[in-house]
Amino acid sequence: MRKQKALELRNIKRTYLLGDTEVHALQGITMHVEKGDFVSITGPSGSGKSTLLHILGCLDTPTSGKRYVDGHDTSKMDDNALAVIRRKKVGFIFQQYNLLPRFTALENVTFPMWLSGMHPAEMKERAGHLLDIVGLSHRKYHSSSQLSGGERQRVAIARALSNEPAYLLADEPTGNLDSKTGKEIIELLCNVRKEET
Ligand code: ADP
Repeated sequence: MRKQKALELRNIKRTYLLGDTEVHALQGITMHVEKGDFVSITGPSGSGKSTLLHILGCLDTPTSGKRYVDGHDTSKMDDNALAVIRRKKVGFIFQQYNLLPRFTALENVTFPMWLSGMHPAEMKERAGHLLDIVGLSHRKYHSSSQLSGGERQRVAIARALSNEPAYLLADEPTGNLDSKTGKEIIELLCNVRKEET
């Protein structure tokens, strides 16, 4: 049986205007990602990876083409509608973790659920469960500034999963980590993918 498409791009183009010059950063990308797929985007500097990532994360609108997120056509949505799609459908993981430093691991994971208006008891239970999944049940009440790089990225992964997104987008998630910890983070991403799908 075919799995559901989490994401689909059809002939996506993104052109930047630099003074009078047009920069054709994406020139007709067609791709799809099914739930549970694991996809890497690689290429030399300037080849359009960041532009594509912004389109995939609904942070930017294509110049032309169609983008479907979990079956919804988001190609022409305005900023407010895209913000809702990002909150509900996309989990972001960054190289710099982007955690709230004075907040505990539990509070960081809870934050997106709070924005979505989830009941406090349900939020706390789900955040605790997600921290268990990423192997951090013993660090729930540590502030993120007291955690190691690898632990911070585990919190960020738990946070990215909090609103049950259709897909996770990770921008160089191991770029700040030593190779052993980086490998553990990739293994964790593979495992949570199986656990959450
Ligand atoms: P990568 O992430 O692979 O290094 P980018 O997506 O950043 O590539 O850039 C792709 C192309 O688009 C490059 O030629 C870059 O100079 C150009 N570009 C990126 N952002 C802008 C922008 N805001 N304005 C004009 N040109 C841009």
